[in-house]
Amino acid sequence: MLKKLLIFSILNILIFQTTASTALARDRIENHLSDLLEIGDFETTVSNSIPIYFQRDSPRSEESARSIAEEVNRMLILTGYESIERCQNIEVKIFVMDHSLLHDRSVMNFLSWESMPENIWGAYDSFHDQSTGEFYINGSATSGFTKRIFAHEFWHHIQDITCQTKSEREAEDFSNRFCNITGEC
Ligand SMILES: [Zn+2]
Repeated sequence: MLKKLLIFSILNILIFQTTASTALARDRIENHLSDLLEIGDFETTVSNSIPIYFQRDSPRSEESARSIAEEVNRMLILTGYESIERCQNIEVKIFVMDHSLLHDRSVMNFLSWESMPENIWGAYDSFHDQSTGEFYINGSATSGFTKRIFAHEFWHHIQDITCQTKSEREAEDFSNRFCNITGEC
């Protein structure tokens, strides 16, 4: 009986691990940004040492990038960013792009689409280049909503540098707080 039980629990563990690793399986892609950088034809603006990329030929993406740039300083102050106790150092890079480019799965193939809704306003990822937290922001939102998306993704970055589990609810709570305090979104 004991032997049977033992075999049963070993089997259970094996099955669980297989399922877990399938769910988490994600291949690291070398130079994952090369297609995006080529097709996006980005220009860069810098705010508090954070580079914000926007598409040269897209006034909307440029406008959204400016809205984000306006909020970076306040974001760093409100989150106490400089004094956060980190478990890892991750630089921030922000990409603002047209809806169509953000949703072009042949270019944005490095995002984990299977865990996201079909249409997204933003995404945060530090999987392929673990020293960089990449923000992908949909540039087709209004200025206020862009700031809200930025706050949401910024909280995912805080979760990342403090090694906390990614929580959508906390990111939403923070973006609500950010918008209430700033009155900008
Ligand atoms: Zn989120």
